[in-house]
Amino acid sequence: MAKRDYYEVLGVDKNDDATTIKKAYRKLAIKYHPDKNKDDKEAEEKFKEASEAYEILSDTDKRQRYDQYGHAGVQDMFSNGGFSWKDFTHTSEFSDIFGDGFGSIFDMFFGGSNRGSSRGGERVFRGEDLQISLPLTLEEIATGVEKTINLKVKDSCKSCEGTGSEDKKMSTCRQCQGSGQVRQMQRSIFGNMTTIVTCPSCRGEGKTITKKCPDCNGEGRKVHKKSVTVKIPAGVSEGQHILLSSYGNRGLRGGPKGDLIIFIKEKEDDTFIRDGSNLILEYPISFSQATLGDKIVVPTLTGKVKMNVPPGTQSGKKFRLTNQGLPVVNSSTKGDLYVSVRVITPTKLSNKEKELFEQLAQFDKDRNMAPGKNFLKKMKGWFTG
Ligand SMILES: [Zn+2]
Ligand SMILES: [Zn+2]
Repeated sequence: MAKRDYYEVLGVDKNDDATTIKKAYRKLAIKYHPDKNKDDKEAEEKFKEASEAYEILSDTDKRQRYDQYGHAGVQDMFSNGGFSWKDFTHTSEFSDIFGDGFGSIFDMFFGGSNRGSSRGGERVFRGEDLQISLPLTLEEIATGVEKTINLKVKDSCKSCEGTGSEDKKMSTCRQCQGSGQVRQMQRSIFGNMTTIVTCPSCRGEGKTITKKCPDCNGEGRKVHKKSVTVKIPAGVSEGQHILLSSYGNRGLRGGPKGDLIIFIKEKEDDTFIRDGSNLILEYPISFSQATLGDKIVVPTLTGKVKMNVPPGTQSGKKFRLTNQGLPVVNSSTKGDLYVSVRVITPTKLSNKEKELFEQLAQFDKDRNMAPGKNFLKKMKGWFTG
């Protein structure tokens, strides 16, 4: 198959500037995002093709050489005689395009620096990382918790002892004599060029199997059920992750294991609102408690505490209970608990109560009850500052 023109791949014009090229690549990269196209070889190829084109066209020198000599002019810029992900210098832009967390997906699908690594001249395939989310309650976050997680993870196939071969034997690849790479002669405008490419017969592994293990279809690994116990430290928050090295999938035919990445998810709490390591609680008090003052008992994440409501407390007043918030991860400090009291206006009154309120109302006439903004100003910024 003839190699497609880079401008055509990105759908841009020969005279388009760097910004347009970047935009075009961004669009394609999002479209063929591996997360959206799981196990889709074609999308994977398209993503790679677009990345190759972007690698060349985003660089002034490389672009110039391509414009002048075509594909042959830039071929020697790729380490394997053809573009591979090793040659891609813009991986750091992925977090811009896809947001954080793409890095590991990138590794998982295309083999970043740590995948197709070498093991004594052979190519070994690191297993995929596994990602799971772990929902936690605020109580669990307050104290820290130990959780057992059930996983379906690919590990060595017992039938073939992880070799992928029915007779557990592998033979040295004939085409590359075990090196995993073959030389290829290519004619170009610079004359004959020898390039080294991944051996097509063993796909770089250096070894081949005569008969695939029927149990694992030659992969040397199978899905196993496994449970992992993990200690979650106190004070973690949504989006943070815990990495368990080598708890992911086993690589092909005995390759090293990927990692397990546990993302913390915070369950919504019925009582408390979290603000960093601080907690916010709204607590109802009666007219008489607000007016005369009282000692009330408010809930905390770990129990209950007494709180003093002074006489003349206004609705919305915030009280700070120090060290009653959440712990800060890996530190001995704790956040605070803010209790916002809300004065509840009674709706059902007995005759006696009504009578008493009417008597009180007589005093209100003498009080200065002029409208003002002070109270609203206090309310403003309650959650923001
Ligand atoms: Zn097997
Ligand atoms: Zn080979």
